[in-house]
Amino acid sequence: MLEQYREKRDFKKTPEPAPAASDTGEGPLVFVVQKHAATQLHYDFRLQFDGVLKSWPVPKGPSLNPEDKRLAVMTEDHPLDYATFEGVIPKGEYGGGQVIVWDCGIYAPEEHGKPCFDRARAEKLVRKGIENGKLGVFLQGHKLRGGWTLVHTEDKNWLFLKKEDSFANADH
Ligand code: MN
Repeated sequence: MLEQYREKRDFKKTPEPAPAASDTGEGPLVFVVQKHAATQLHYDFRLQFDGVLKSWPVPKGPSLNPEDKRLAVMTEDHPLDYATFEGVIPKGEYGGGQVIVWDCGIYAPEEHGKPCFDRARAEKLVRKGIENGKLGVFLQGHKLRGGWTLVHTEDKNWLFLKKEDSFANADH
């Protein structure tokens, strides 16, 4: 699943982590949002799943307002080690620019309106959600909390939106 990630990068030139298997298959699933000052500033939303980070660059970044439907464009899987990556990708390299961790934490997919923390079951739910084009997740980060939904629209395009709950904020 990381071939595309490898193909796009020259690990002699970029400080980004080389692909490596590092998933123990235990513990909670993690998420990260990286602020990436590439040619076009964007926020990379990543969810741990199946030993990799499923990745969606969100050009405008996440919004706490449930009425904002933020475009999230699915891109190549990233290695799990990427979740803690911060650094400057050299100019001229793929994604050249600074990367910082903007938010991180754990997440659980939604099942019947509630977070599912059972690891094996959670990964099944995420798989089903991605296949069906609708995935509900509960995020426990510093900036992002509560329920969120990813909805597939067409091609690689998804929408990322906040659910109505006590962590929503229509003023943002
Ligand atoms: Mn990016």
